[in-house]
Amino acid sequence: MNIRKPICDSHVHSHFSFDASPSASPDAICERAKALGMTHIAITDHNDVNVLFDHSFPPYPEKEAAQSIAEAKKRHDGSVCLAYGVELGQAHQYPEAARAFLDVFDPDVVVGSLHSLRGEPDFYSLGKEKYTDDVFPAIWDRYLDEYLEMLGFDGIDIAAHLTYPIRYARKHGCSADISASIPKIENIFRTIVKKDICLEVNTSGFRQGMGGPLPDFHLLELYRDCGGKLVTLGSDAHAQKDIGADFDLCVRKLCRMGFEHIAFVFRKDIMLTRTDT
Ligand SMILES: [Zn+2]
Ligand SMILES: [Zn+2]
Repeated sequence: MNIRKPICDSHVHSHFSFDASPSASPDAICERAKALGMTHIAITDHNDVNVLFDHSFPPYPEKEAAQSIAEAKKRHDGSVCLAYGVELGQAHQYPEAARAFLDVFDPDVVVGSLHSLRGEPDFYSLGKEKYTDDVFPAIWDRYLDEYLEMLGFDGIDIAAHLTYPIRYARKHGCSADISASIPKIENIFRTIVKKDICLEVNTSGFRQGMGGPLPDFHLLELYRDCGGKLVTLGSDAHAQKDIGADFDLCVRKLCRMGFEHIAFVFRKDIMLTRTDT
């Protein structure tokens, strides 16, 4: 089975994300996309809204990013379509601040994330005592409740890396058995379908030792069975070399699972690329 054309990457970080490679400029990202034969790419830097209030990470340089990406857009016009996006984290926790950002900067695409629960640090830096088989189920339950709440924030185009905490739970040796929470996950999938937004297949899981994307293929089957058709692919690259990583394998698998298209969102328009030949 051949893929007709390279699938577009809907989730890439530039050097305007504090944790990305300093060399990941918008120009470097466009050049990498072109080298891979991609026609469209989205730069989606971190804007975790809680950071404005708890200062847990360096703030998102919103003006600088918007201006630099707008300039790169013009420079590469005609060779690659660059979407000025944002990975909006925890929008539901500070909805007014999130709304104010969207009203002023009006990004082409908004990836909605949940990196931290209310009053807690990022799952990345949550203490290892939280990742035990005794404690983690309650954290996971809160995660699913807040993820649903996050989806209620109006303005999200793509639901990002569902199952993010499992990445860290497994690293700490927790079994992270989620079988008891399938009804809650189904509810999340049905909400995504009802809101007509896309579910992200985040391929960083391959690079982070999870052996598959976030969410994994079993959950993607559940999404399909809940009526889900719209999926985007996001490498979550923090360095140019990871753009489009593991897309071929994912597309083949998604095609076999019955997903006919991969979506790319640009100003509410959804561009679809077929997964078969
Ligand atoms: Zn993220
Ligand atoms: Zn990301």
